[in-house]
Amino acid sequence: MTSIFPARKAPDNLPRPVHWGTAAVCRDEEFHPDVWFPVPTDLVGIEFAKGLCRRCPVQMRCRTDALNRGEEHGVWGGLDEDELRAVRRVRRAAAAKQAAQEKQAAEEPGALAKAG
Ligand code: SF4
Repeated sequence: MTSIFPARKAPDNLPRPVHWGTAAVCRDEEFHPDVWFPVPTDLVGIEFAKGLCRRCPVQMRCRTDALNRGEEHGVWGGLDEDELRAVRRVRRAAAAKQAAQEKQAAEEPGALAKAG
């Protein structure tokens, strides 16, 4: 079927956003990707990966993304697996506390003000 409208194409000279990951230290070919996935008992390897992350210009962005994705393995944004788990645990607890407060506020308006 032919269209009565002429075929339209977007111009291909529009600026494209550059992904933040292009500036990452772990993209450097000097280091093998396995550096960021040391076995959990390899404390020297973990500290080496964290040291590289500390030099990385996108460390916080990487950490935020890894936490939001729920990364369970490797060093991300300068945090090892245990630290990533700990941050997620704190976040979950804070979210649960906030949800409980909102539920209580919805059930008894003014209860939060009384509790101080
Ligand atoms: S902070 Fe993230 S992006 Fe940067 S080197 Fe570490 S793992 Fe790679």
